[in-house]
Amino acid sequence: MNDLHPRLRALADRFAPTPLQRIADPAWSARGVALSIKRDDLLHPVISGNKWRKLKYPLNDALQRGADTLVSMGGVYSNHLHALAYAGRELGLKTAAFVRGERPAALNPTLLDLMEWNMALHFVSREDYRNLRAYREWNSLPGIRPGQYWLPEGGASEWAWQGVAEAVAEIDAPYDILALACGTGTTLAGAVGAVASGVEIVGVPALKGGEFLYRDIPELLAAQGRSDSGGWRLWPDYHFGGFARTTPALLEFIAVFEARHGIELEPVYTGKLLYAVYDRLQAGDFQAGQHVVVWHSGGLQGKREIR
Ligand SMILES: *Cc1c(COP(=O)(O)O)cnc(C)c1O
Repeated sequence: MNDLHPRLRALADRFAPTPLQRIADPAWSARGVALSIKRDDLLHPVISGNKWRKLKYPLNDALQRGADTLVSMGGVYSNHLHALAYAGRELGLKTAAFVRGERPAALNPTLLDLMEWNMALHFVSREDYRNLRAYREWNSLPGIRPGQYWLPEGGASEWAWQGVAEAVAEIDAPYDILALACGTGTTLAGAVGAVASGVEIVGVPALKGGEFLYRDIPELLAAQGRSDSGGWRLWPDYHFGGFARTTPALLEFIAVFEARHGIELEPVYTGKLLYAVYDRLQAGDFQAGQHVVVWHSGGLQGKREIR
């Protein structure tokens, strides 16, 4: 493990390990299955969840290399850019981003925060955005100048898995299944190899057509020089119409869950994740005696825009 740069250390010290919370719910106890939530939504008021986990070591690498500017890419609702802009500001680094699609006439709360935190935004066509996905190394972006550090989509750098593994290591109880939400699949790829042998990882894609992750996740693992130890699968049928799409049934589920358990969810990732886990419970997918851990990956900032 590489040493932490003093500025990264000062920021990292503000993030405490997050608790594993046991959920008391008759739906689960009736089937003899235990449910817990890894509360990474409690990490930090702004940089919540898996975004900090994925950014920690790439940011450290950027500081170690003496970078002055972080450059990345994301959509208009990007929790990744939101976390990056804030972290950059806290670390005294400039930030810039390629944002997918046209500049919206009315900026949403995510984009307003990015501007407030002085992230330079470059809106690019969907095609140009897609092409940016080809550049995966920190210095591989064409035209990158000295001092700039490139972070690929979803923060999928060679360092990202290390912070994800730290989150997994914090889970201080035996468990059988780790369920997590997927966008780019970087978090799932990081969890493969971090969980104890015999633990199954299940990913719930937030995007329609999430089966593409059966191709992308092995690629991410290979790019990190890590082997795909297997033991993971997807439940691709809980996208509710596509990324950031919702249905009344999803919103109703979220409202009931929040009221019952006092844990906030957002409809883009974690609402769909919990819905899926409850639905698979009802379908009889889990066995009595099993312990299911759901990773609450945060993202609550995105809740401001989607109703
Ligand atoms: C970004 C995000 C994810 C997906 O992470 P990937 O590593 O891109 O798969 C899941 N949950 C939340 C809350 C997120 O913001």
